[in-house]
Amino acid sequence: SFSHLDEIPLDPHYALKEEFAADPSSTKVILGSGIYRDGEGVPWILPTVQKIEKQIAAADESDRYDYLPIPGYAPFCNKAQIILFGYRKDESMPIISVQTIGGTGANFLGARFLAESLKPSAVWLSDPSWVNHENIWSSAGVKVKYYPYWDKENKSLDLENMLKTLDQEAKPGDVVVLHACAHNPTGVDPKRRQWKRIAELCLKRELFPFFDCAYQGFASGNLDNDSWAVTYFASKMELGAAQSFSKNMGLYGERVGALHFLVKSPKEEAKVKGHLLHLQRGQISQPPRRGAKIVAEILHDRAWFHWWLRDVRKMSFRMKDMREKLHKELVALGTPGDWGHILTQIGMFSYTGLSEEQVESMKKESHVYILKSGRMSIPGLNNSNVKYVAQAIDKAVRM
Ligand code: PMP
Repeated sequence: SFSHLDEIPLDPHYALKEEFAADPSSTKVILGSGIYRDGEGVPWILPTVQKIEKQIAAADESDRYDYLPIPGYAPFCNKAQIILFGYRKDESMPIISVQTIGGTGANFLGARFLAESLKPSAVWLSDPSWVNHENIWSSAGVKVKYYPYWDKENKSLDLENMLKTLDQEAKPGDVVVLHACAHNPTGVDPKRRQWKRIAELCLKRELFPFFDCAYQGFASGNLDNDSWAVTYFASKMELGAAQSFSKNMGLYGERVGALHFLVKSPKEEAKVKGHLLHLQRGQISQPPRRGAKIVAEILHDRAWFHWWLRDVRKMSFRMKDMREKLHKELVALGTPGDWGHILTQIGMFSYTGLSEEQVESMKKESHVYILKSGRMSIPGLNNSNVKYVAQAIDKAVRM
């Protein structure tokens, strides 16, 4: 019987969605999950993806339902690696790349592999981090600890305490999870000089960096800028990276991701690959074909690639525009407090700094739903609701 089981509450994103769905209000707004919406508030199928899908369907290949090999679709893995690490001149440190079930699958496969290979005393996550990180790493049997990240007072990065905690408390061989760009949930990334200090500390204390890259292109609108930290670390040390195409290709439900490990020498390459494939075989056998094919087709052709970059920039610019509009409305209302962080934070999210009570009051009084932590998903804003959301914030703050 299962009567001994604890009750586990629904993941906060899904709980919020259910509550929103049950709310009969006609003015309700949800700014919860990290899903892009266009200016009309509906899902946006990237035009480039739409066109490629037609081309793939027309080609009607006879192997379209065959299994892929265990590491996935090779043209996808190769290009995904180049998107994240750039074209590398020095190949003395090889990279092993495996296709996964979205970024989540990449995080999980990476966690399982590092758990069994490095046997870390702990994995270090940013405080706060993506809610699923703790779930993933503890499922892989690794003790989860947090390093300071968010400076609540100044609504910025708490770099000194982050470095101090890792320096004093992490053990050699521990894993440090770093968000490559557009940190979820805070929207606050380290600057390049700050990344350099984090890299230096990882080297000094022999900490293994594991990057989670779910928003490449969303932070700055430029892929290379957004993967700068990964390439910088890759020039200095071994690392792991989980990559997702859910957001930047809008392929959420197709579950397209990749896991990469950069290792010291070709000798390690075969061993790491063997372990990853063994784990992958036990977990999913082979990853799905369709999404990987779409991504590979786009990345393999110069013209398609440039069309895709236009789509990415369009999403990134619309989110920036919405930040500016929300900020402008708050300033116009004279809402108490400083709201500059809404402009300076980047990517899909804003960590508004609203308290749990204020979030609750926004929901009760105005039917505006954001996460309890105060995280707001920016793409849920559009020209029709941004003023209303600003008024809801204003009301909650003045409560
Ligand atoms: N990592 C982070 C930081 C994320 O925010 C997300 C998506 N919310 C993921 C990984 C997972 O991405 P996917 O949907 O591709 O599994």
